[in-house]
Amino acid sequence: MSDIIHLLPDSVANQIAAGEVIQRPASVLKELVENSIDAGASHIQILIKDAGRTLIQVVDNGKGMSETDARMAFERHATSKIKNADDLFSLRTMGFRGEALASIAAVAQVELRTRREEDELGVLVEIAGTRIFKQEIVQCSVGTVFQVKNLFFNVPARRRFLKSDNVEKSHILTEFYRIALVNTDVAFSLFDGDEEIYQLPISNKKIRIENIFGKNSKKHWQQQLLTIETSTSLVSISGYAGKPEYAQKNAVQYFFVNGRYMRHPYFHKAVLLAYSQMIQASESPNYFIYFEVDPQTIDINIHPTKTEIKFENEQAIWSILSASVKESLGKFNIVPSIDFDQEGAVDLPTGIQLENVRPPQTNFNPNYNPFGTSAYKRPVLDWEDLYGGFEKKATTIESLPDSEQEFNTILSGAINSDSIQQVIETGEARAENFQLRNRFIITSIKSGMLMIDQHRAHIRILFDTFMSQIQNRKALSQQVLFPELLELSADEGLIFEQLLPNLYHVGFDFESQGNHSYNIKGIPNQLGTASVIDLLLNMLDKARTTAEDLTVKMNESISLSLAEASSLKAGQRLTNEEMSDLIDRLFACENHNFTPDGKKIMTIFSHEEIEKRF
Ligand code: ADP
Ligand code: MG
Repeated sequence: MSDIIHLLPDSVANQIAAGEVIQRPASVLKELVENSIDAGASHIQILIKDAGRTLIQVVDNGKGMSETDARMAFERHATSKIKNADDLFSLRTMGFRGEALASIAAVAQVELRTRREEDELGVLVEIAGTRIFKQEIVQCSVGTVFQVKNLFFNVPARRRFLKSDNVEKSHILTEFYRIALVNTDVAFSLFDGDEEIYQLPISNKKIRIENIFGKNSKKHWQQQLLTIETSTSLVSISGYAGKPEYAQKNAVQYFFVNGRYMRHPYFHKAVLLAYSQMIQASESPNYFIYFEVDPQTIDINIHPTKTEIKFENEQAIWSILSASVKESLGKFNIVPSIDFDQEGAVDLPTGIQLENVRPPQTNFNPNYNPFGTSAYKRPVLDWEDLYGGFEKKATTIESLPDSEQEFNTILSGAINSDSIQQVIETGEARAENFQLRNRFIITSIKSGMLMIDQHRAHIRILFDTFMSQIQNRKALSQQVLFPELLELSADEGLIFEQLLPNLYHVGFDFESQGNHSYNIKGIPNQLGTASVIDLLLNMLDKARTTAEDLTVKMNESISLSLAEASSLKAGQRLTNEEMSDLIDRLFACENHNFTPDGKKIMTIFSHEEIEKRF
């Protein structure tokens, strides 16, 4: 037999590599903008069309490329940033793998125009699917323009994998923030088609934060952020920590090291520790913290899409970090917080601390009764039939099912109304129910003892109700007396917009305040005492992280979040009527055995099982 191993052609190898580096339009944006920064640009313009599907364009005024380099840049492992392995340990640039452009060119149609200051003319390179179509001398200004068109034009599976426009845009914004928040000596503009999303001048970091996350936001960035500044031989830490009273569920939290965004759950704990006793456990502070360390002491050689970074002196830095955040918070308690090093004239009223304490708010409907919903009609299915027979008299022996087979069906756990119906005699009297540890409802049925988890049962009932409300587009809404304000960042706002129509269908009512803020004017009638803001953020989180396409799973996700928030909990005492009512409504649900997320709602102990115990 002849040899069978051969080398893959470049086009295939590049496409495979691209699969790792370029997952979505946002990855292209990240790679291009990082290259512009590495090229020393002080002004970067970004334009996307159709959430980056049809066009991602990045224009910079960096150092540009020579004609040969412009061609070379698309080769795999072609980089100007490192020469040998040692350079890896003194890395100051964002890129170094020389993979990005090769990967992008493997899965998109790319046009590059670039010119160096010393050259009179620039060069144009057109490349698609690794094939060069054009290379010619052109007139252009100093710097580089990349146009990446029709991403994944030759990888249909990848294209299909992309999410809705809003979700892809939200990913783009996420990458954009990570770069713009740390490269504050670069001016950025971001356009979505004709619409200007951001115009960020060169500024200090605090102003940049405000420019990105909203000037008029209730977050009062200028007043909220306390300066952190520590310098040791191991690490320099600078940045800002939010005042405790601004802590919130969806806090804005960023770490950077040597100009690069990073995630660091361990350091995050160090920050939280500094806030202990000052904020509620469910809330988290806003922070923007920038580390500078000797590049030799971190392992930057991480995967391009990973954002975790390993530090050599992790423990020591942990302590320094926690102490410096604590120090900033301490200073703020003594000294009135006036920040002298800001650029723009931003309003900084004194005595603001009191004004900004947001009193906790709760919304609840005093008339709320999980069992008294007017919308509820007794199900057509007459459960009298099913309960019949569990009269209080002892009927154990006579009512044993006739066959073993019947037992087995019941014991198998998958209970359906048919099998229950088979074993329950008809009768008039309603069962006496019993509540165990205010959590389980126990009732006797002909074949034995039925035990129901009240919380889960109620989730199933409410979930079905909310789902049908979304489908029928009518839900009962109650107006709230003191509308709470839901404040989102632009990337969250995009996803929230997608949820909006269905949130209206289940009974929410919002008034847009602009700047991704919404007054919550109405809430679903069934909603219990849960915090509405928490609930909405929770939904947002689920919608963002869901693996499936947002539009498909969205209704279920909304209904489930609502059902969980509104359902009666374990520990709630129920009357006999309430228990019967709950059982009725549960069995009226098509799938009464499991909660929407697959948890078992009920179980049956057969008479035989019970008798065996004696
Ligand atoms: P890396 O950034 O890891 O070096 P890339 O594939 O992203 O690899 O880029 C390859 C090379 O192309 C870079 O090393 C750089 O020399 C050049 N390059 C890319 N983008 C630009 C740009 N905007 N301006 C100048 N040179 C660039
Ligand atoms: Mg690069």
